[in-house]
Amino acid sequence: KAFPAGSKDLKSKVKFADVAGLDQAKAEVVEFVDFLRSPAKYEQLGARVPKGGLLVGPPGTGKTLLAKAVAGEADCPFFSMSGSDFIEMFVGVGPSRVRDLFQQARANSPSIIFIDEIDAVGRRRGKGGFSGGNDERENTLNQMLVEMDGFTSGTGVVVLAGTNRVDILDPALTRPGRFDRQIAIDKPDLAEREKIFMVHLKPVTLAKELSAEEVAKRMASLTPGFAGADIANICNEAAIFAARRTAESVEMQDFERATERVLGGLPKQNSLMS
Ligand code: ATP
Repeated sequence: KAFPAGSKDLKSKVKFADVAGLDQAKAEVVEFVDFLRSPAKYEQLGARVPKGGLLVGPPGTGKTLLAKAVAGEADCPFFSMSGSDFIEMFVGVGPSRVRDLFQQARANSPSIIFIDEIDAVGRRRGKGGFSGGNDERENTLNQMLVEMDGFTSGTGVVVLAGTNRVDILDPALTRPGRFDRQIAIDKPDLAEREKIFMVHLKPVTLAKELSAEEVAKRMASLTPGFAGADIANICNEAAIFAARRTAESVEMQDFERATERVLGGLPKQNSLMS
């Protein structure tokens, strides 16, 4: 069986240092890192290890990035898939994709599985029911529950999932022994936006009279309500604007135009392809 496109079996290189802010969330996922690094320790002690965690927050706030950082810090492979990938294909494919994903992760353990948009699969059952697609979704969800229930402390796989709609999730998913930890990922505040700008300004060649600190401070104050993904976009767009001017470095005007551009594109969706 071909392993579905979009998944990765490479070791993640992302570290906690690449995730700006989110201190509380990082503190909460550290335990997963320790478990992945030394599963034997937990097994030997007979500890019931956490199987999964739900990263709950708005789009673009770094949920995927944080999950990758857990894998990176534990120096283990990262397997990911989006909830919508499971059910957009042909009938009957969803459950077998889940099986494949978990099988790969087990074969490469210790490892991380990240399921983005888990709400696409994990919506509360028994509602709607107007299309055959629902059965497909339920079968996919059931397979996911079966896989997670099959984990023992020796499995060495942690399942993280991202969602911004924890309220619509099937309670079966959030029961103990499944996604029983919820980790809140909020939009960044002023100080956090400044830190995120610092991360994404690193590759940008700034005009001589500008310092990264200064740009980050100024831009953070201009971008209330922006998520980390928007900030990454602004930095990239600013460099593109400078390139269009055939300038050798990026100036404040480029950041201002980029902000308008990204603001115009909100909510969501990258405007990387300009
Ligand atoms: P979605 O719910 O839409 O899948 P997400 O919460 O998983 O979004 P990510 O994919 O992790 O968001 O974030 C997109 C990009 O935004 C990251 O690859 C990174 O470049 C940037 N980003 C987001 N949050 C942060 C952060 N806290 N620090 C640094 N970069 C960030």
